[in-house]
Amino acid sequence: MMSAAQLQLSVFEIFDHPMKSIHDTLQQVFGLHEFRPFQQEIVEQVLDGGDAFVLMPTGGGKSLCYQLPALHRDGLAIVVSPLISLMKDQVDALLANGVRAAMYNSNLDAEEARSVLGRLHNGELDLLYVAPERMMRPGFINSLETLPLALIAIDEAHCVSQWGHDFRPEYAALGELRQYFPRVPFIALTATADPQTRDDIVNVLGLHDARLFTTSFDRPNIRYTVREKHRPQSQLLRFLRGQEGHSGIVYALSRKRVEEIAGHLNDRGYSAAAYHAGLSAQTRRDVQERFIRDDVLIVVATVAFGMGIDKPNVRFVVHYDLPRHMEGYYQETGRAGRDGLAAEALLLFGTQDVAMARYHLDQNGNDNQRRIDSHKLNSMVGFAESLTCRRRVLLGYLGEQLEADCGNCDICLDPPERYDATEAARKVLSCVYRVGQSFGVKHVVDVLRGSDNERTRKFNHERLTTYGIGREFSAAEWMSIVRQLIHRGYLIQDIAAFSVLKLTPRALGLLRAEETLELARPRVQDKPKKKRRKPGPVEDLNEDDLRLFETLREIRKQLAAEQGVPPYVIFGDVALLEMSRERPSNEDEFLEINGVGQVKLERHGAVFLEAIANDEA
Ligand code: ADP
Ligand code: ZN
Repeated sequence: MMSAAQLQLSVFEIFDHPMKSIHDTLQQVFGLHEFRPFQQEIVEQVLDGGDAFVLMPTGGGKSLCYQLPALHRDGLAIVVSPLISLMKDQVDALLANGVRAAMYNSNLDAEEARSVLGRLHNGELDLLYVAPERMMRPGFINSLETLPLALIAIDEAHCVSQWGHDFRPEYAALGELRQYFPRVPFIALTATADPQTRDDIVNVLGLHDARLFTTSFDRPNIRYTVREKHRPQSQLLRFLRGQEGHSGIVYALSRKRVEEIAGHLNDRGYSAAAYHAGLSAQTRRDVQERFIRDDVLIVVATVAFGMGIDKPNVRFVVHYDLPRHMEGYYQETGRAGRDGLAAEALLLFGTQDVAMARYHLDQNGNDNQRRIDSHKLNSMVGFAESLTCRRRVLLGYLGEQLEADCGNCDICLDPPERYDATEAARKVLSCVYRVGQSFGVKHVVDVLRGSDNERTRKFNHERLTTYGIGREFSAAEWMSIVRQLIHRGYLIQDIAAFSVLKLTPRALGLLRAEETLELARPRVQDKPKKKRRKPGPVEDLNEDDLRLFETLREIRKQLAAEQGVPPYVIFGDVALLEMSRERPSNEDEFLEINGVGQVKLERHGAVFLEAIANDEA
């Protein structure tokens, strides 16, 4: 941890000039060279004393929008944040840049809380992160009223809205804040875009003529891939082989499955931990902490995991099971690649999962809810089945139209080959009919391929006219065709009755030769990669640079452990990559690296410069 002495001076006192431009601060404090879209406008709006409403995707760079004005306006900036774990990370990151920040929440003991309040009243703080219930205590508000406030930032502002997916009653109480601080600029920030929630936030918080700043919700560095689910454990292992040393999350629907996968990965020598609501709070905190510190690389989790994790170097997110809706999918995949470096989102899409989800839906007694959920599920399935650019479908769902195909999803990178599958589809449908619509996928495929086994003999199915009419495709290929027919609504899989295949009314048109059908050529096996290289951000490092990168990572990990902070608080991967490539040889060059400000140069410059000099390229 930083010593108290290090915190005495404001960053502005450390440097020579009292009046800095916001660009100087961006460079010297945060070590960044230019603003991202809208950051500068937002900072200026708040500096002018106006309210701002910021809609940016995860990883878009929202924090800077209030942290920078906090340093340029007189007085203390208050940041209301719902999650204590997030607060701690942000405060650690600010302290590492030499900014006088602290937090005030229920995790502090009485002594610590008194000390924070003392520093607050002595004007020794630039930013204070506060939990909403602390904020609204009358005593606290009264004491703030006597202080000059630079701004009030409400992070994760969607939590005030009952429309949103993450409503928190203690957040709604923030609506009263405005009456106490009519002249302090408010800045509300969220990564949730839907219009109803948006209106709600403005109303509840009483924002004054707030300027709305919205950036695109696209996350271009995330590569979206959907694979037909087929022996998912091997699919996962194959995927992970390309992710060695990288940190990621694997989402699965049930606790049981989470435990299974985590166990399986551990058996195979992966550094993996399970996380779900059935584990003790202590265990969950522990897993989260180890993940943040890169002590465990893979977390296998239910959707309970992820809120409150700001880890910037999550390199992949795998959905082992189908997410229930696109909002969840977008949010969960969005946890990958916050640092802007290349990241992967892999979804394993299985017909059984869809059937199961529909089954659960039908159990729901409430008509209205069922209609909404069913609509959401259909959108999710539509995304997974789509033969057009994934990003187009995803952003389209969020109300944003892309000008062109993205070039960074499985469909764009490796367009599926389509072919006239009318004949093959007819074979499947008539075979389903011939076996009395009473058998599952495997048996239907066995009959088509003319397999001689106990079951076909037992039911005399080798006498059917459809027996052996499909020897032209492998079993895996037929499975893929059947799955596509299910996805497209020609067949259903009756989950309530042993997952037997049944025809739908749609099937009739095909069977009667009234329509034709195009399907995607089955892609059962991933194409073997030409040359195995580490994918992701290190892709274009040469061997020498890669070695240096690993060395710098080691140093970072040691420093982080000594100081009790997550590694990325020392330097992010972006900074280490640049160091490995650019190999700065003096302090001026070191300052050019993204993420190196004045304070980090002073604290870590020597160690890293030495390591770089010692690495003979
Ligand atoms: P959000 O809160 O919107 O999810 P963060 O504020 O945590 O995003 O920022 C995400 C990442 O982007 C951080 O690693 C941050 O350092 C980086 N970042 C933010 N602004 C810039 C910028 N102007 N230039 C380079 N990197 C930036
Ligand atoms: Zn695409």
